[in-house]
Amino acid sequence: MDATGFRRLWDEITGIGLADTGGYLRFSWSAADLALRDWFDAQAAERGLLVETDRNGNRYAWWDLAPEAVVPPGAAPDRRAVLTGSHFDSVPHGGAYDGPLGIVSAFLAIDELRAAGAEPKRPIVIGAFTEEEGGRFGVPCLGTRLMTGVVDPDRARALTDPSGTTLADAMREAGADPDALGPDPERLANLSAFVELHVEQGRSLEAPVGVASAIWPHGRWRMTFTGAGDHAGTTRLPDRRDPMLTFAFAVLAARKEARLAGGLATVGRVEAVPNATNAIASQVTAWLDSRAPDEAVLSEILTGFESKVAERAKRDGTGFTIEPESETPIVEFDASLRDRLADLLGGVPVLPTGAGHDAGVLAAHVPTAMLFVRNPTGVSHALGEGASDEDCAAGVEALAAVLRDLAC
Ligand SMILES: [Zn+2]
Repeated sequence: MDATGFRRLWDEITGIGLADTGGYLRFSWSAADLALRDWFDAQAAERGLLVETDRNGNRYAWWDLAPEAVVPPGAAPDRRAVLTGSHFDSVPHGGAYDGPLGIVSAFLAIDELRAAGAEPKRPIVIGAFTEEEGGRFGVPCLGTRLMTGVVDPDRARALTDPSGTTLADAMREAGADPDALGPDPERLANLSAFVELHVEQGRSLEAPVGVASAIWPHGRWRMTFTGAGDHAGTTRLPDRRDPMLTFAFAVLAARKEARLAGGLATVGRVEAVPNATNAIASQVTAWLDSRAPDEAVLSEILTGFESKVAERAKRDGTGFTIEPESETPIVEFDASLRDRLADLLGGVPVLPTGAGHDAGVLAAHVPTAMLFVRNPTGVSHALGEGASDEDCAAGVEALAAVLRDLAC
C-alpha cells in the first residue's frame, strides 16, 4: 500500500456531504449517509464481501470463507469474527477523517491481505456504525449503545434532530425499520475482537501510527446561575445581583482547576436570559465538559470547581447549581490485545485519548483495541483535521498486519 493507492480510494468519498464551508455534513440517515452506505455496499460487492445491516442500522461487510455462516448464533470460539471499521457520520462541519478513515482503511487492509495471499481462519468483518457523533440526534455512539443495551430503544426512537424529526421517522424515511432497534447480545458474543482505526484527535502522536491505551473518563454538567434582571443604566453596581459575573468566574475557575489537577475543562456553550445588551441578565445557563486521565483527577477538578464557584456566588449574591448530564467512566482497552498490537507493529507509541469512540462502548463486551493515525495539526471536529496520505497508507499496513495476526 502506498500513498497513491490510499488517495485513489479516499477520493471516492471526499465529495460526499461536503459543505460550502469545506467541512462535512454527514448526519446519520441523511442523503449523505445513504450515499456513503451505497459506496460501502459497492466496495463490498467489488471484493465479494457479504453486506448485512443489523437491527440498529449498523452496516457490515463480511469476508467469510462460508458467507452463509454470517453471525451463526453461538459460533465456536475459533469461528468468532474479527471486527474492524468505524463510522461515516460527522459532527456539523466536521473534518473528513474522523470515522471514514477507519472504514476506507479496512477495505484497503483486506486488499493488502489478499494480495499477500493471506487466508483467514475466522471471518473478518468491516463495520460502519451509525450516529457515532450524536451530530443529529444528540446521543453519541448511538448505534453501539443500542447494540450493547446501554440506550433504551424507546428512548432512541423518540430522539429528535434540530428540525424535530424523530429517529424513528428518519429511519423509516431512509427505508430502515426503527421497530427493530435493541440489544444484540448474540452478535457481540460472536466477535473475538474489535479493532478501530481512527485519526488521532490531538497532537500527542509523533509517529505515523500508535495504539490506544485508554479513553479518559469524562462528563458533561449543566450549570445554572441566577440573579436579578435589571436596567444596565440605572442599577448601581453595589445593588446588582448579576449572574453573568459568577458565570465569568466559573469559566476561569474551570480552566484553573483543570490545569492544577492535570485534566481538561471547557465551557463552550452558554445561554443568557434575556440576552440583551442593555439589561443585567436574570439567568445564565452554561455547560461544563471535563475530562481527565483518571476518575480521581476528574472528581478533584469538579470538587474544586464547585466549591470555588459556590463561594463566588455568595459574594455576588447569585444562585449557582450544577447537575450532571452525562458521566462516562474510564475505558481501559484490553491490555493483552494492546500489548500484542504494539509489539506486532514494532513498538509503536501507546497513548490515551480524551475523545469518545464506539470502541469505548464495545470494549465492555469484546476485547477491543484502537489504532491511531497521526494528525499533524492536532485539530479534530473542525476544518484543519487531517493526516498525510503517507501516514494513512502506514495505517492501512498496520491494520492489515493486525488483522492477519488476529484472524489468519
Ligand atoms: Zn470518530
